[in-house]
Amino acid sequence: MGKGKVAIIGGGASGMIAAISAAMSGASVTVFERGDKVGRKLLMTGNGKCNLTNKNISAENYYCDVPGRLSSILERFGYEETVSFFYDIGLLTYEKNGYYYPMSNQASSVQDALRFRMKELGVEVRTNCLVQKISSLQKGGFAISYKETTEDHRRNIKENFDACILSCGGRSVPKTGSDGSGYDIANALGHSIRTVRPALCALTCEENIKAISGVRATAEVTLYVDDKKACSETGELQLTDSGISGIPVFQISHVASKATGEGRDVHARIDFLPGLSAADEKKLRHSRHLLTFDRTADEYFVGMINKKLIQYFMSLCHISARSKMSDVLKFSYNAEDKIWKMCRNFDLKITGTVGYENSQTSMGGVPLSEVNDRFESDITDGLFLTGEMLDVDGKCGGFNLQWAWCTGYIAGEAAAEYAADADET
Ligand SMILES: Cc1cc2nc3c(=O)[nH]c(=O)nc-3n(C[C@H](O)[C@H](O)[C@H](O)COP(=O)(O)OP(=O)(O)OC[C@H]3O[C@@H](n4cnc5c(N)ncnc54)[C@H](O)[C@@H]3O)c2cc1C
Repeated sequence: MGKGKVAIIGGGASGMIAAISAAMSGASVTVFERGDKVGRKLLMTGNGKCNLTNKNISAENYYCDVPGRLSSILERFGYEETVSFFYDIGLLTYEKNGYYYPMSNQASSVQDALRFRMKELGVEVRTNCLVQKISSLQKGGFAISYKETTEDHRRNIKENFDACILSCGGRSVPKTGSDGSGYDIANALGHSIRTVRPALCALTCEENIKAISGVRATAEVTLYVDDKKACSETGELQLTDSGISGIPVFQISHVASKATGEGRDVHARIDFLPGLSAADEKKLRHSRHLLTFDRTADEYFVGMINKKLIQYFMSLCHISARSKMSDVLKFSYNAEDKIWKMCRNFDLKITGTVGYENSQTSMGGVPLSEVNDRFESDITDGLFLTGEMLDVDGKCGGFNLQWAWCTGYIAGEAAAEYAADADET
């Protein structure tokens, strides 16, 4: 078998594992990275700790155009394969509640382990090289046109390869290099691009909630699209100057981002006492009356929900926080109901997301239906696509990196095989 030449565009998570896998399968591999180093986004992952995979990998944790194909793909390179791949390249991991992290608790160790292995395998990494165009050659293979981006070197260069892997990422955090340029390259090669939008991010709302900005509270957040319940998540909610954030919000952000992008009516209903049944609420209200009847209105709610929220809800209901609860009830019995309603059903009109700069991933891209099970394009032979380039995005918890490892590893092997065959003919 010949030693074919494989070009990998993008030295992020999926590009680096693809490079290692292609080189281990015997290919001569060159990685083109526009930034001055590989794996820049990896350093930001998991708050600097890198949640690199999850024990509960399954199709339900992903959004994609052909969900039926996901299970078999994820089985071929799942979390066990990821953990064992990293062990083999020198990175030990540990598991906590199903989430996997490097033993060092440092995302930089993941970047280093991949870098070291690429070097040992003779992968040529060309940083500061922005790929602008890829053309299919009539004799087979590809011409990669790229531009050097340093002060000293600004040449435009063209080079030929037998196979090419597009690993340019999506559009989240463009300063890390993934600004969507990969989609233009794929589109020029005949692929369609499904609408790209931010995902795994905070949401913005119409109401002015600056007064409760900074509050963190356990809550259930339910998203309604055109008044129909779409999804719901419970966890630590964070209220911000412009809207809502935190893990439960990230988990529902895919649905919210798509619906607001399509101009639909979206609102989030927040329950600050999640899991409290109607019967338990009734009991709680009764016992609170006995306990707190002589307390002031704000004291009535102390110990139940965050104090800043209480003040805010009182002001919305035009109740003086210092009034005696017995007086509040005398004056208007439903004033108490109103505050309870806010604790259980606090509604915010969702206007959109905080954008790509602050999103962990992006949805959309090349449909999975346009590649085969080895991530080779159905449109252009010898072209492979990995990671966020494809229209598959996962929930929070290591699912997106698992997608990058899975697609990169499988595409790397397949591209090496394709390039070797091409080199022989
Ligand atoms: C703050 C943050 C935290 C995250 N935390 C986690 C986490 O803990 N767990 C998890 O599973 N996921 C996490 N993610 C998501 C995860 O990082 C991504 O899903 C993953 O990095 C995608 O891998 P990729 O290879 O597709 O793209 P990327 O890692 O984005 O890599 C793409 C690379 O291609 C390069 N490139 C782009 N265009 C070109 C071009 N034209 N020419 C040359 N080079 C180009 C870019 O510079 C970049 O280096 C997080 C993301 C962010 C932003």
